[in-house]
Amino acid sequence: MNASATLKSELSFTRVIGNLSAKRAIEVAAVAAASMIIKGPHGAQKGLIANAYAELYPSRLVVRISVSDRPEELRQRLADHGDLSDILLLIPNLPELKRETLVYLKELLDQQVLIVATVQHCPCGNLNSRVRGCSCDLETVQRYRSRIPFGLLDACSMLVESDEPTCSDIMARQNGFDSGDERIDAVLARVKKASPAFIARREPIPLKMEAIDLLDTAVRCLSLSTVAVENIRKLTTAITYLESTSYELAPAHCVAEAIQYVMKNN
Ligand SMILES: [Zn+2]
Repeated sequence: MNASATLKSELSFTRVIGNLSAKRAIEVAAVAAASMIIKGPHGAQKGLIANAYAELYPSRLVVRISVSDRPEELRQRLADHGDLSDILLLIPNLPELKRETLVYLKELLDQQVLIVATVQHCPCGNLNSRVRGCSCDLETVQRYRSRIPFGLLDACSMLVESDEPTCSDIMARQNGFDSGDERIDAVLARVKKASPAFIARREPIPLKMEAIDLLDTAVRCLSLSTVAVENIRKLTTAITYLESTSYELAPAHCVAEAIQYVMKNN
């Protein structure tokens, strides 16, 4: 997939309506090379946002997994490719994958393979929908959610929520107030500027005093794991460099944004 070779109007990034926070999240992810889970009800453009992430990462080979793929078939496909470091795995409906495939995905995350997966809140897909009612009982929802091993959830750096576009989002698009296509150039330019600074820094950027206090409070109040804290530090570095590559210390608001992306308990 190559953003420059595709008409702007055909880009998934351009076709996403509303969902500005999800668009911001994929910008951060593209700098940090972060795996992410995109969560939302039916109609929340999860697949489109996942494709949009791939468009911000034109150097990666996109490998699409389907829920019917067996782990051995996936292993073979990836083995045929050889180098795993330039692959982006796009995965629909993560909880519907076979258990062995989910375990294998955790292995791949440990090998730094980039994964973008979508998840709905419940089996019918309508939980948290603004327009449709959910038919699932609580036990079914809990069983569905528990299909994703916590190790896999924790290893995915980011959890991004997407929503169904609102009427005002749709009207803004129809009336041309939100063309959706003017930002991708700006986003790609910011990613291109921030990425070398992120790659050059092998350790996370040091934090300002108030940013340290904020992170300490979050660790205490949210019982964050060591992996989650490492992910916050990585994402904070990306967010800081998106703001300015000349910063030597990360401000607190960059930590605050990074904390949102690792919240996995909702
Ligand atoms: Zn449901």
